[in-house]
Amino acid sequence: MVMVSDPVNELEKRDIRSIPFENLQDEIVALSEPKFRAKQVYQWMHQKFARSYDEMTNIPKNLKAKLSENFRLVSLKQVTVQESKIDGTKKFLFELYDGNVIESVFMKYKFGNSVCISSQVGCRMGCKFCASTLDGVERSLLPGEMLDQIYAISRITGEKISHVVVMGSGEPLDNYDNLLVFIKMLTDENGMNMSQRNLTVSTCGLVPKIKELASHHFQINLALSLHASNQEKRKELMPIANKYEISEVLDACKYYFSETRRQLTFEYSLVGGVNDTDKDAEELVKMLRGINCIVNLIPVNPIKERDFVEPTREHAISFKNKLEKSGINVTIRREMGRDIDGACGQLRRRHVLVEEHFD
Ligand code: SAH
Repeated sequence: MVMVSDPVNELEKRDIRSIPFENLQDEIVALSEPKFRAKQVYQWMHQKFARSYDEMTNIPKNLKAKLSENFRLVSLKQVTVQESKIDGTKKFLFELYDGNVIESVFMKYKFGNSVCISSQVGCRMGCKFCASTLDGVERSLLPGEMLDQIYAISRITGEKISHVVVMGSGEPLDNYDNLLVFIKMLTDENGMNMSQRNLTVSTCGLVPKIKELASHHFQINLALSLHASNQEKRKELMPIANKYEISEVLDACKYYFSETRRQLTFEYSLVGGVNDTDKDAEELVKMLRGINCIVNLIPVNPIKERDFVEPTREHAISFKNKLEKSGINVTIRREMGRDIDGACGQLRRRHVLVEEHFD
């Protein structure tokens, strides 16, 4: 038997950054402390982005001791950052308390600063062009670990973050319960108080979860990774299409719109010769007719493990024009940080491979 010399194992304690405000109030009362302390502690973590109990200067010592006895307050550690010389995009590699690493991205837009966060370590959805999924999923992230990506980036850059997209590694709806807590905490007035409208969740299309999310009537934006103009092609690129037909996925999205009135986004990674033909554009137009949506074309960012090719810029623009002529709103995703391993999971994967190489 292995003897554990330190009975107070940090990893066995609950993560305090993952506890919503009302629950924290209950916890603090249960520690025989006045309720108002919960607000102070919560604000330290979620407004001032404190990384340790020591930083909480107006909290009495004995409460800090009780808290640290019962809850862990651990923060992401920056491993590396890559900064794009083209557009100022910064891609961070962070280490979690258990040694796993995740990626998060800071992007500057005209409308404000946005952070793209990961929802899992790795991913189990298996989309063919995506680097995050090559080794499957390691684990899901806690609400506090999703929040801390935003907090850490805000601290490091000194910038205000107005928008969040859950579009990094992982499938957010495969980490559904934690995602709901994350949404609640991100939009809490005692925390960042972010407007739901400034949050976008991107999914490969887990139909029952899209419907469940719709039933909450949040004002968050839903982005659906469509990537194909028919069921057959979608199956080739996305294994999840074996589980849910493209028509079911679209129905779930329409339901999301009917419940929330939020315009839908369809992400469509353009893969040269695979889903970027004239016929694809025609089928896509038919499929999306009448849906209040915007199509976001993402010229595929080739990963070295697969031989997908990016369409030429001219071809991507001509694909866009075809959709636009038929009255569909389209944007081509600004190629943020192409010079810095822009594609999801690429940075983490390279890091993990290098680590393994040196182990
Ligand atoms: N699991 C979520 C978030 C994934 S990442 C989802 O499936 O939506 C966000 C978007 O980037 C998805 O649309 C994903 O399919 C796409 N993507 C991932 N790797 C890519 C690559 N190498 N090139 C272009 N798009 C990619």
